[in-house]
Amino acid sequence: MGGGIIGLCSAYYLAKEGAKVTIIDQSDMLDGCSYGNAGMIVPSHIIPMAQPGVIHQGIKWMFNAKSPFYIKPALSSDLLFWLIQFYKNSNQKHVDKSMVPLRNLSFFSKELYQDFANATTKFGYQEKGLLMLYNTEKVGEEEIKIGEIAEKMCIEVDFLNQQEVAILENGLKVNALGAVHYKSDAHLSPNHFMAFLKNELNEMGVKMISKCYLKDFNVSEGKITEIKTNLGIFNADEFVIATGSWSVEIAKKLGIKLYILPGKGYSFNVENLTVKPTIPSILCEGKVAVTPLGEAVRFGGTLEITNTKDTKINIKRLQGIVEKVNQFYPDIKVDLPETKKVWLGFRSCTPTGLPIIEKSEKIKNLTITAGHAMMGLSLAPASGKLVSELVIGKKPSVDITEFRSC
Ligand SMILES: Cc1cc2nc3c(=O)[nH]c(=O)nc-3n(C[C@H](O)[C@H](O)[C@H](O)COP(=O)(O)OP(=O)(O)OC[C@H]3O[C@@H](n4cnc5c(N)ncnc54)[C@H](O)[C@@H]3O)c2cc1C
Repeated sequence: MGGGIIGLCSAYYLAKEGAKVTIIDQSDMLDGCSYGNAGMIVPSHIIPMAQPGVIHQGIKWMFNAKSPFYIKPALSSDLLFWLIQFYKNSNQKHVDKSMVPLRNLSFFSKELYQDFANATTKFGYQEKGLLMLYNTEKVGEEEIKIGEIAEKMCIEVDFLNQQEVAILENGLKVNALGAVHYKSDAHLSPNHFMAFLKNELNEMGVKMISKCYLKDFNVSEGKITEIKTNLGIFNADEFVIATGSWSVEIAKKLGIKLYILPGKGYSFNVENLTVKPTIPSILCEGKVAVTPLGEAVRFGGTLEITNTKDTKINIKRLQGIVEKVNQFYPDIKVDLPETKKVWLGFRSCTPTGLPIIEKSEKIKNLTITAGHAMMGLSLAPASGKLVSELVIGKKPSVDITEFRSC
């Protein structure tokens, strides 16, 4: 259930194991969260979203209409519980126990991406690293501290000053005091990767049924016997929930409580720039992602904790993205895009900042994988492979103890 990148990767590795797989998705499977994202593969991201200082920073950002973060107020017990759990997890102990599992999951995923990329150039996979660009001393200090932690964890890091950034970017003007360059990060074109995966799945005989909306389950003796959809009833031996931000409502139908909230984000592409960056970057003060994708550059950002019906594009936040891009890359001069050219997607955010990859304790033939937040593309192949191992009953390739629902 769910034909985003996590569902497709799960189907891919299941089919490789010889399983007969059907994917159902309520959308047309052409433009969801797995398409318009920034395409970054980020083994550098070893610190989960729930971390010390994040609450303080988040509250400051809530009062700035152009900031990258917002929580849409709602009278909802789901939001309240999520916030309590997020608060409880935003500490050093949680970070310390998450870093190694996250790093191992990320590097495993990157290896699997390399396997795909060795077979085709169709989705523009490149290993150019990621520049965390900063233009204030305070943020620079924080980024360097994180870079030093990453270095201790055997992640390849360079600490660059302004001139070194300019050299790396072939003289392109970059208004940054410096950057932390995570050399083991990579990037690709998400739209092309999704097209490539669907093609592979087709060839492997995986059925993909779009506009197929899961309505309910029939359960008997602790096992799902069939699912009810707008296109009729489907049965199977094993079921996988990979429905991203919608996983809460789907799990609820089985009496399973998941704590996931959608984190809305935007992106837009700018084509035909005369000068452009060649290395993906994050403009740290505004949390804006910049990814060169062939002839275009994709700019993305904002995380608005909201609900999946909230498909409004907030112009102020979009302005915040554009202003940061023009501040950091003064030669590029990006205009505010028309809203019809802006893409939006919902990252599925857990209160731990870690994804869920688990076999359900309640329903014997159910595997759940969701909550990948800002790393869903990066972690998709590993998550898919692990799902296949859980379903088939093999030992997981990496330790998944920390990737459980709370
Ligand atoms: C602006 C932005 C930039 C990002 N940049 C990056 C990045 O650089 N690197 C990275 O790793 N990640 C990035 N992400 C995050 C990444 O895009 C997501 O984590 C990832 O796409 C999640 O994939 P998914 O398959 O879990 O969810 P989705 O892609 O949301 O797929 C879930 C699917 O479930 C289907 N579904 C829901 N309910 C039902 C139902 N009842 N019946 C049937 N089908 C249903 C939906 O239609 C949907 O297609 C970014 C996200 C945003 C918003």
